[in-house]
Amino acid sequence: MTISATTGCMAGSRCFGFRRAFERLARFSRPDRRCSAWVLLLSLCPIWLGLAACAGVGPRVSPEASSDANAVPPPPSFHSVTAAPGTRPVEEILALRGLRSHAGARLRIAFLLQETGNWAGAETELQQIVFADPRPERDVEAIARWLRARGFERRGESDRARAERAAGLLVADEPGLRERLTDRAVVARPGPAPSSPVAALSVLPRTSWKAAAAKTRSMKPMGPVHRITIHHSATACRDGRQTAAVAAIRSIQRYHQEEQGWGDIGYHFLIDPAGRVWTGRAVDWQGAHAGDDERNQGNLGICLLGNFMPRDQGQPPAAQLAALDQLVKQLARRHEVAPRQIVTHHELKPSTDCPGPYLQTAVERLRGSLETSRIVAAARE
Ligand SMILES: [Zn+2]
Repeated sequence: MTISATTGCMAGSRCFGFRRAFERLARFSRPDRRCSAWVLLLSLCPIWLGLAACAGVGPRVSPEASSDANAVPPPPSFHSVTAAPGTRPVEEILALRGLRSHAGARLRIAFLLQETGNWAGAETELQQIVFADPRPERDVEAIARWLRARGFERRGESDRARAERAAGLLVADEPGLRERLTDRAVVARPGPAPSSPVAALSVLPRTSWKAAAAKTRSMKPMGPVHRITIHHSATACRDGRQTAAVAAIRSIQRYHQEEQGWGDIGYHFLIDPAGRVWTGRAVDWQGAHAGDDERNQGNLGICLLGNFMPRDQGQPPAAQLAALDQLVKQLARRHEVAPRQIVTHHELKPSTDCPGPYLQTAVERLRGSLETSRIVAAARE
């Protein structure tokens, strides 16, 4: 009802404008020249209509209505999603728009939008897939992550691109896709094997969240690191924006310094929902995260922003888990921490639920994979 009323009004005002223009012209013309005025106006009509069409004021076919009812959604495979676009990708996008409920169609739309240079439009489509509830199928998520990584690379956000690829690798099964998701920095190169199979992870400095100065007088030097402990912040944090992470980290530091009376934020690293890694307390100083002094000695604390108890946020985002995976591997290698010493807060102090069952499982899986690669490496030597 509203639509037809609006359409009618717009059409009426256009007619009125046309008549008034003619009357104005005629008023200043002699009667014998009125005929010429009509001729002039009628000759202008095609130009007028052309301009109206360019401005999009004429009747439009909605993109949904222009979808081909007989179009078949492509299967959500890497091959079909990334097939070369035809000569008219925009028409293909229009034909698929009504089929968005099929993951393959939505992925193909995102890919085609990227190919036409509409990176922001593609990202909107991909967010609908990656953050859907319930979570998408594994390969669908993996393709979406790969496409998002392309978008982040295009925008120069290499950290986010890397995190997306890592998140994609956790769920990708298709070999061709796994190959594309593999970080270029970790692809084996000819010649001597690289000393580390893990890409360098960029960690945002304390200045990026405007940390208050540490009160080092009440802090202890770290000593040799032999353990890594994983926590959640136990405060809901679903917002992936950088500003949200900054606010959350600053609030944790305030709580630790002002309420707990500690010298600085208790954790050495924090990971936000989008997978960014932030520096907390400098690694040179013993942390305040595991309970008592004995548990904190030589113990690096990593906190994932969010509350991952089943009744709260539940599962941590894949990008956050991928960043945890990368950070733990990097720290374990740098400080020579044995896999069995990569623990959750709950394992170290059973009276706490931190970091919840989902992260508990993730840490167990990570520990297992580190154990396996250690056994494999030892067998090679
Ligand atoms: Zn904890």
